[in-house]
Amino acid sequence: MYYQVAFWIKVCYIRSMKALLHYFFYFSAMLCWAQQTEWVNFRSVKATIQIYPESKKVEGHMTVAFDILKSTDSIFLDAVEMELDEVNLTMSGQDLNSRPEAVKFKNNKKQLIIFNAFKKDRHYELRLHYVAYPAKAMYFIDWDNDLTDKQNPFNLKEHVIRKQVWTQGQGKYTSNWLPSIDDMNDKMEFDLSIRFNKGYEVIANGVLNSKHSSDSTVTWHYDMQQPMSSYLVALAIGKYDKKVVQSKSGVPLEMYYYPEDSFKVEPTYRYTRQIFDFLEDEIGLPYPWQNYKQVPVKDFLYAGMENTGTTIFTDSYITDSIGFMDKNYVNVNAHELAHQWFGNLVTETSGTHHWLHEGFATYYALLAEKDIFGDNYYYWQLYEYAMELVAQERMGQSTSLLDPRSSSTTFYKKGAWVLHLLAEKVGRAAFKEAIRNYLINHRFKNVSTEDFIDELEAASGKALDGFVAQWLKDSVFYYDQAMESLEKSTFIQEYLMVDCELASSKCSSYLSSGISDEAKIKVIGQNKTLLKREDFKNSLRVRQAIAQSLSQIPLELKTQYESLLDDASYLTIEAALYNLWVNFPEDRVRYLQQTDGIVGFSNKNIRMLWLTLALVTPEFEQDNKEQFLRELRGYTDPRFHFEVRQNAFQYLNSIQACDAVCKNNLKQAEQHHVWQFSKFAKQLLKEMKE
Ligand SMILES: [Zn+2]
Repeated sequence: MYYQVAFWIKVCYIRSMKALLHYFFYFSAMLCWAQQTEWVNFRSVKATIQIYPESKKVEGHMTVAFDILKSTDSIFLDAVEMELDEVNLTMSGQDLNSRPEAVKFKNNKKQLIIFNAFKKDRHYELRLHYVAYPAKAMYFIDWDNDLTDKQNPFNLKEHVIRKQVWTQGQGKYTSNWLPSIDDMNDKMEFDLSIRFNKGYEVIANGVLNSKHSSDSTVTWHYDMQQPMSSYLVALAIGKYDKKVVQSKSGVPLEMYYYPEDSFKVEPTYRYTRQIFDFLEDEIGLPYPWQNYKQVPVKDFLYAGMENTGTTIFTDSYITDSIGFMDKNYVNVNAHELAHQWFGNLVTETSGTHHWLHEGFATYYALLAEKDIFGDNYYYWQLYEYAMELVAQERMGQSTSLLDPRSSSTTFYKKGAWVLHLLAEKVGRAAFKEAIRNYLINHRFKNVSTEDFIDELEAASGKALDGFVAQWLKDSVFYYDQAMESLEKSTFIQEYLMVDCELASSKCSSYLSSGISDEAKIKVIGQNKTLLKREDFKNSLRVRQAIAQSLSQIPLELKTQYESLLDDASYLTIEAALYNLWVNFPEDRVRYLQQTDGIVGFSNKNIRMLWLTLALVTPEFEQDNKEQFLRELRGYTDPRFHFEVRQNAFQYLNSIQACDAVCKNNLKQAEQHHVWQFSKFAKQLLKEMKE
């Protein structure tokens, strides 16, 4: 997942009797602590929560069990903007078993602070009841959007509406909907029971033990057996079917999908079992959790999030087999799965060590892809990562891998590079041994970079100070060393050698030679005038590069270029349709007729372009213009996925056809929970006013 920096802006103190006085005299003051792991060890949370989607409300009863490590007069739970009551405490241990008693507490709307003479080595249970209306971390999708709406501007199909509830804990804090501990260093076992309206699937961390029905609701009881940090607690609710396969080691892999999407299950989840079996084998430690679930959701904030045993990912990755060619879930699938070890089993102590999550997930995803797509693919990705890191360096934005404010390019891609180089440096066998020891020695705990390097030094017998200084602490990306490693690949050697920046005699024959697709695509990018008819005989990917780069189509290539409209690639068809329409006005009607009805990706890339071109082609279906416009404007409706809406706004704006309803929808989009989309809406509205 993506990383966001948390700033502790408040000075946090209060740890003694003075604290209590402070509380009485300055009860309006904000009390908070960043850390309390020295005093208390939280062990488990058992919560029964009911979710009311129409009012966006959560209500729960929970029991929190904890041990006191050092006597103290107070402890806290993070609980954002909650109403808290029925707060009771029970003490046990050393033959003591007290009865639940009401306890003195303060709710400052950020934390629940419990005041009590907590005794060292005693075990306590806290019970409470809470109500929350989460402003973030839990999202309610489409509950305001009903199909009974008479104003329905476009004939919306039932499955456009996705009544869902889902959560995102990293960077948002689970304590917005469940009292918990924001600090990643306190891991506990979370067992959630969730009561929700009948007719929906309710998915949470762990194993579904049982379901209990009442007249209108079902309560789903989930059980975890191991502890985790609070940011990894998750739930997802919606209308789903699921496909379950077993891994080689017997772990159930549960793949959720929308009921009408059964034909997309295979391309969407392609290679899932292979990735799982590969990672278990490569990492050398069995998958640490009871099962593995993957759930697509609408209007998600990121590509995917590795909640423990329960990855949530954006439903934009749901694809048919044509879309798979251009954009698929394979990399994200492997990345989030790798996090189940790197991030979830062993968790960073702080943002300084964030590469222990993202660098590792990126690296192991690459290894899994190498297993699927081969060595060339692996080296090619590393080469692209290097180019991205070089570009970042040129902009003066390189930072140390251990800087908590680093970009995702640094955490993910430099992190992956560091692991690639370390494996080369110490040898594959020592690297694997170190990884295994690192995971075993720190499982269900927190880790720093030093913990990892110590294991590597122990397993390899090599001192790594020099490497650490250069690659982890220094902000420079050592390009020459990286290239030296890459040039062991003949595929990369060939790619670097093929160069048509200055056209040579070889350049005209490259595209019909046996060089790699990547090298051919490089040649096309460098010199479009080299293209000949026979060059269209290349693979789908090379043809896609031709479609996208040839904006001026020579007449002698027209027939070949037109054949791109039949390719099994939505990106190719989109680029080809646009370029053909621009280049050959006399054939516009024919091109539109040929591509009528093609939708494209789930963001409707081809349909949207088609509608726009149909509107601005006077000779094409004059009688249907109004209907085309209605359809295009309809896609701006809040019921559509934000990516569909964004496309529609852009096209309507390009032909100055965003009417009052469209503008109203754009205004509403300014409040959308996906910040990139709300930012887009704000900018476009500003542009329209200028
Ligand atoms: Zn990640």
